Amino acid sequence: MHHTSSEGELNDSTADSPEEACGVFGIRVEPNTRSVSHATYDGLYALQHRGQESAGMAVSDGTSITVMKNMGLVSNVFDDRMLHSLPGNLAIGHTRYSTTGSSTWGNAQPVFRAVGDSGIALGHNGNLTNTVELSNELGIDPMDLGSDSDLVAHYLAIEIAKDLGGRPGTVRESFKSHPEAVLSALNDVLPKLEGAFSLVIMDHDRLIGVRDPHGFRPLCIGRLETGWVIASESPALDVVGATFVREVEPGEMIIIDELGVRSFRPFPEESIDPKLCIFEFVYFARPDSRLLGQEVYTTRRHMGEYLAKALPVEADMVIGVPDSGVPAAVGYAAASGIPYGQGLVKNRYIGRTFISPDPASRVDAVRRKLNVLRDNIEGKRLVVVDDSIVRGTTTKSMVRLLRDAGATEVHLRISSPPYRWSCFYGIDTPSRPDLLAANRDLDEIRRFLGVDSIAYLDLGDLKAAIGYEDGFCDACLTGNYPVAVPVTLL
Ligand code: AMP
Repeated sequence: MHHTSSEGELNDSTADSPEEACGVFGIRVEPNTRSVSHATYDGLYALQHRGQESAGMAVSDGTSITVMKNMGLVSNVFDDRMLHSLPGNLAIGHTRYSTTGSSTWGNAQPVFRAVGDSGIALGHNGNLTNTVELSNELGIDPMDLGSDSDLVAHYLAIEIAKDLGGRPGTVRESFKSHPEAVLSALNDVLPKLEGAFSLVIMDHDRLIGVRDPHGFRPLCIGRLETGWVIASESPALDVVGATFVREVEPGEMIIIDELGVRSFRPFPEESIDPKLCIFEFVYFARPDSRLLGQEVYTTRRHMGEYLAKALPVEADMVIGVPDSGVPAAVGYAAASGIPYGQGLVKNRYIGRTFISPDPASRVDAVRRKLNVLRDNIEGKRLVVVDDSIVRGTTTKSMVRLLRDAGATEVHLRISSPPYRWSCFYGIDTPSRPDLLAANRDLDEIRRFLGVDSIAYLDLGDLKAAIGYEDGFCDACLTGNYPVAVPVTLL
């Protein structure tokens, strides 16, 4: 989701309304078979890496929908007592990620819109690029909306209310007797959305999953003995005991109700153009996730193998920067023949340090997060493998730690190409001037970080490591944005 500012323009990530990647989850089971609130908790816990700012869920018992959300980690927001107070057979959940200070309750999801005596709840991973046009079309002041996700829920609620207009009985009854009202609202609204959106939506009866025509952000389906699950990443299926069925396809909408699972194509055929975020493979997704039929860990190991060919160097040990750099370091060591070892230890209880807004606190954050294994690295020439460099702040202080602990040489190897462009499709990134590689050549980067040599993985090799030549969004690496980005954002 992305916020709208008072000028009605989308903010950049230095303003008070950042972009974020998020995790979404949805579950629908036969009534009285299991606690969907507990399952959603487990699912969100498995997706915690996608969002640590706020967490929430909406639960339906078939009659009413209850939304609970708050700032903080999944484990801070919910406790057992709360989960027990949320009975039902249908739920969606959301974890939200952002960097700067806009941590407000209003930003938390799922968002909810009432329609008569029913309503819809929605969780969004991604970022719309035409929020301003859409709010103009609807004749609403963007100021009155919290976010682009709010806008989608609002739009859907209006269309559903229109479709049900004049029918006798309550909306809840009409939902049952006229399921096509929700379907036709979705068919009207979804094609109007531009940008990145993996959505979970529910009314009091139905679970809906949607992936935009580019499929920027992941979304998959799992099967339970008594129902179905939809989640951003497959580990959230594993944790609730669901079997991975498949990914929701780009441009596909899945409706799960008492009839089972049905697939729809609400977007025009010509708009379908798969562009899965390549950075999901590089950094964002969990290593145990399955994307495009591959286990992400394996692709990262391959990235390291390719990386070993980039700028061969003599060294005593290959280390990975925990956790994200480790799979590629293992691959690098295997391909180069240089022994793999551990040189850095990560505090298990720390989140992602990138979140700290100002440079000084990010530097401290590195010490809080990483410490050296002095005996292992003293006097050694190290190849240090990490997945990416964004601002360069944490990398620079990590290099300092290694040198202070007696590493004689530090050769940095990055298992993705230089990160040069901001993401507008749902991953939080700083604006261009803050991206280390945006305006620096390799030697300037090397000197800034204080390393003896540096090499990045080539884009072709990155794709080869994943096993697909195209079908990716690589805008952050190439500046080729598949969906037009408003000038105000650039
Ligand atoms: P820095 O040196 O400050 O650019 O930080 C680099 C580290 O940030 C790498 O170890 C990456 O794994 C990690 N990283 C890359 N992209 C992101 C992101 N969107 N959010 C949080 N951390 C990230």
